[in-house]
Amino acid sequence: MKIGIVGLGLIGGSLAIDWRSLGHTILGVSRRPSTCEAAIARGIVDRASCDLALMAEAEVVVLCTPLGAFLPTVDQLLPHLSPETIVTDVGSVKGWVVEAIAPRWENFVGGHPMAGTAESGLDAALTGLFQNCIYAITPTAHTPSRAVEVVTQLARSLQAQVYKCDPQDHDRAVAWISHLPVMVSASLIASCMDEESATVRSLAQTLASSGFRDTSRVGGGNPELGVMMARYNQAAVVRSLQGYRQQLDAILQTIEASDWDNLETLLGQTQRDRPAFVDPA
Ligand code: NAP
Repeated sequence: MKIGIVGLGLIGGSLAIDWRSLGHTILGVSRRPSTCEAAIARGIVDRASCDLALMAEAEVVVLCTPLGAFLPTVDQLLPHLSPETIVTDVGSVKGWVVEAIAPRWENFVGGHPMAGTAESGLDAALTGLFQNCIYAITPTAHTPSRAVEVVTQLARSLQAQVYKCDPQDHDRAVAWISHLPVMVSASLIASCMDEESATVRSLAQTLASSGFRDTSRVGGGNPELGVMMARYNQAAVVRSLQGYRQQLDAILQTIEASDWDNLETLLGQTQRDRPAFVDPA
């Protein structure tokens, strides 16, 4: 199959490596000529260009640019394609992506491989990045079944586990498990840095161990990614932050009221819920 990849970075480059190793022909488009040249030189793609006209030959086109470039890219891409070309994407947010692209391209299937690293760009691309990961696919009632089947098979060929879901449900779910944790963890770091006493702050730093390291990790990552989550999944992130604030207020009131029984009940519930949520049987 001829697969076009637009955006040769961590995700696009990793998809290209795996699909090419399975015998597909990979056509790559990226923003910088130096990235296109590197992708060819390293055998990641068969051909590459900064010109989206290269995608005219592809049977499937995968959008792998940052989310902010999706819509201008689609505007320029679609006139080059024949109607049967299947277009999919790997964006971390699905609601507005599907709403914006599906009405313009019948054979569009939203997708989101739940894999990544802290790195970015073509140099970060890896073999086998998607092995054993969940690959979410978000077709609508109008998505042609052939397009869904082709994208499903391509995802499975990466040894990923395909999971189909509604685009809006996807966004609410990733708000809980990915986007909210970044905001909560960032708030933890900021609150700690706000400690008025320099002595206490310094002592906290000295005493901090694995618990603080774990809970502060995702809040100490790349700010661009956090902004991307909030900007492109705003409604679901606001909804999950409001839910979190309610829980925090409930805990605060319980502690202020010295209601230790209630606090124990609450923490007992979360102690039971966590293993069942994180490692379901
Ligand atoms: P990335 O490493 O920064 O790769 C994106 C690449 O796209 C850039 O390296 C850039 O390459 C190229 N690019 C930028 N603007 C472009 C444009 N207008 N036209 C063509 N190419 C362009 O980012 P990524 O982490 O792979 O993320 C890409 C997509 O995957 C995003 O939509 C993100 O939501 C999704 N995603 C990310 C992860 C993750 O953990 N990182 C996980 C799942 C899904 P050059 O400038 O070098 O040409």
